[in-house]
Amino acid sequence: SALPCSDYHAAFAPAAPPPPLPRAPLRLSCVVPAHNEEANLERFVRALAQAVQPLTAEFEIIIVNDGSRDATHEVALRLAQGSGLPLRYIALSRNFGKEAALTAGIDHARGNAVLLIDADFQHPLDLLPQMHQLWLAGFDMVYGVIADRGGESGTKRVGTGLFYRVLNAGSHVKVPPNAGDFRWMDRRVADALKALPERQRFMKGLYAWVGFKSAALPFVPADRAAGQSSFNLRRLGSLALLGLISFTTLPLRLWSVMGSVIALIALAYGLLIVLDTLLFGADLEGWPTLAAAIMLFSGVQLMSIGILGEYIGRIYDEVKQRPAYLVARDEDHSPLRERP
Ligand code: UDP
Ligand code: MG
Repeated sequence: SALPCSDYHAAFAPAAPPPPLPRAPLRLSCVVPAHNEEANLERFVRALAQAVQPLTAEFEIIIVNDGSRDATHEVALRLAQGSGLPLRYIALSRNFGKEAALTAGIDHARGNAVLLIDADFQHPLDLLPQMHQLWLAGFDMVYGVIADRGGESGTKRVGTGLFYRVLNAGSHVKVPPNAGDFRWMDRRVADALKALPERQRFMKGLYAWVGFKSAALPFVPADRAAGQSSFNLRRLGSLALLGLISFTTLPLRLWSVMGSVIALIALAYGLLIVLDTLLFGADLEGWPTLAAAIMLFSGVQLMSIGILGEYIGRIYDEVKQRPAYLVARDEDHSPLRERP
């Protein structure tokens, strides 16, 4: 069942499902981003095909190789050409990051529903029937919510918690915490995402931004089957920064408020000095205060310029209008075709 996990999820997953829509028969596009997944890919794609077959005979699996440096390319190519599975293999020209790989998959999907799922078995295939049911029941997006981060380091858990707090404090669209990229989307949602022109794509924010009737499905991620996570703390940090900068201007506003407060304090202090001098005469003390104040405020100024710079850097990246990804190879053995 769709269980709201928090206020945010409650906002996204109404208790009563919307009235069932007359859905066309399911044609499912499964998007699998793969970065150094040589040890998982074949077993995963076969398991995925087995899990989808009971839902529909019309489906495709889109493997997006995101610039892997291991044998992912060879494995995927062999599967696409020789396994007889309904596969489409898209190789990006280098590593563009998971957000871009997902974007590439969504752009190439031709089904009337799109499933995003990791290649490392962390997203449970058992949930697909429930996702399918919720889609049939009228939800346009069904997303997995990590119900238990017990397996993760304390730093990552605290950092993630803090990130969602700051993000949602400053953003007018609420991004559900702990909702990842494990998602089932209706064609309408996929089309909405495709229409968003930005190149710097923080997907978790974009899913929330496009809206639509959504249901949250809690799950406990399994351990990664083989290989290593591509996300270390530094990469997670830069993803978090991307999220904050693309979805909130709160950091900018914070510095305007801080600047105003400091200016007011300085004004009051200035008046105090004038009065002090008029009433009690001038003296030349206070050099340590002066030195400390100058250092503090130049630090504050540099920090605020730095934050400004982060935003300007993103603006520069956007105006260059480079594509979010480049396709080096498109090996299409999918039975699905574009439909009007
Ligand atoms: N991935 C990708 N490009 C990247 C990093 C990761 O396509 O630059 C894929 C990866 O192959 C996997 C999914 O995104 O299918 C999730 O990555 P990972 O398991 O490394 O992240 P974690 O689960 O630890 O957050
Ligand atoms: Mg993983």
